[in-house]
Amino acid sequence: MRPLLINGEWLTTSHASENINPSDTSDVIDSFAQAGLAETQDAISAADAAFASWSLSTPQKRHDILKTAGDEIMRRKDEIGELLSREEGKILAEGIGETVRAAQIFLFFAAESLRLTGDKVASVRPGVEVDITREPAGVVGIITPWNFPVAIPAWKIAPALCYGNTVVFKPAELVPACSWTIVDILHRAGLPAGVLNLVMGAGSVVGQCMVDDARVNAITFTGSVGTGARIAKDSLPHMRRLQLEMGGKNPLVILDDADLDVAVDVAVNGSYYSTGQRCTASSRLIVTEGIHARFVEAVAERLNNLVVDHALKPGTDIGPVVDATQLEQDCAYIETARREGGNLRTGGALLKRDTQGYYLSPALITDTTPDMRINREEVFGPVASVMRVRDYDEALSVANDSEFGLSAGICTTSLKYASDFKRKSEVGMVMVNLPTAGVDYHVPFGGRKNSSLGPREQGSYAKEFYTTVKTAYTAP
Ligand code: NAD
Repeated sequence: MRPLLINGEWLTTSHASENINPSDTSDVIDSFAQAGLAETQDAISAADAAFASWSLSTPQKRHDILKTAGDEIMRRKDEIGELLSREEGKILAEGIGETVRAAQIFLFFAAESLRLTGDKVASVRPGVEVDITREPAGVVGIITPWNFPVAIPAWKIAPALCYGNTVVFKPAELVPACSWTIVDILHRAGLPAGVLNLVMGAGSVVGQCMVDDARVNAITFTGSVGTGARIAKDSLPHMRRLQLEMGGKNPLVILDDADLDVAVDVAVNGSYYSTGQRCTASSRLIVTEGIHARFVEAVAERLNNLVVDHALKPGTDIGPVVDATQLEQDCAYIETARREGGNLRTGGALLKRDTQGYYLSPALITDTTPDMRINREEVFGPVASVMRVRDYDEALSVANDSEFGLSAGICTTSLKYASDFKRKSEVGMVMVNLPTAGVDYHVPFGGRKNSSLGPREQGSYAKEFYTTVKTAYTAP
């Protein structure tokens, strides 16, 4: 059994949960200790007690620990990448790529530790000095989803520690192995007891306990809108800072003047890679009339040639869906889209492979309209729908017609339309001739509307959430 980490001690529990490989359900990866209320409260107490000292630790110390961890993750990228693919089901190249990105994030924030500055400002009053400094937010609760088991924990834990916060970390139930590995690496890198605590377990128990505890000063959460809304509501009595990254229904606009090969590459990558299980996946393909038939034909042909199989098998393009519940949801959405008048152009079939896994062929649904559920709700699987529009103006209006606002893309060779789209898209991230998914690790990440609440993640913008600003006045 892989234990919890509380106050610098590894701790087993009476109850453990097994972790299953979605490419091969007979492959049990490991078993993981499950925290209850008592363990979660102990973890919060440990983080609370460790804060006084860690918040005053030197930038050099924080740098060295984050650098040591980043170097080890990079050194072990093949092994951790394989574990990730085994645990979550994305293909090995994506698993390794995500691990490299996590290492880069730790190295980025190692350097950021040495770069925290303040301002000295002239007062409007004679002789008075004004200093503006940043201080850590306190005990940070970190709650993560299953779809990026290494990168999302990294982009929350690294800035939290960099800016002097202590952490209680609850990973998603489906992917504890990667989280455990990252925490083990950080622990051995020299973090003092209580600075980083790992509590694996159910969201309704461990996550909710963190939300209900007034000692947790800030919560950073990535997951579904429903859970995010609940965390926001239950956090209100505590007046804590919140960072919520939630769902997406990201549009990709294809204009008549687009380079067809680029558009097909961008759509297939953005909609289906990582089995479409990315919050930034382009699930709404909005295509103008002149290119519509050629685009649909070319995408369907590409999808028919993609290999769906075991995530670790060489030659696999798309791994399995993460579990039985998600697979059921994907199939139900495809069925609903058909009932509402959509045409299942290709895919959407359950596949049998050598190993028992959750295999679904990538689905393309055409002839859909903006009011259909398939264009309003997040599916979170290898499923994309096509809407045919007259021109750019209609495409922009359909793209913005969503409760979500995470990422949006356009494929065009027109500078005029690209510039207009960048300006008028109601999202946090805009892509021109690039997939809606796939972002750099050193620049801000996040969205608007129901996709995000609170300051941006990643890059130096992360300090807006992980620090609080103090203004000090001194008279001579
Ligand atoms: P989820 O909301 O079911 O779970 C997310 C986390 O919240 C898990 O760790 C879960 O245990 C925990 N949780 C559940 N109930 C809780 C409660 N009452 N209190 C506190 N924590 C609780 O989401 P998921 O299915 O793991 O992830 C998929 C979702 O994540 C999709 O909607 C996807 O769009 C979103 N996502 C968003 C981003 C982004 O940056 N915007 C990135 C990745 C995934």
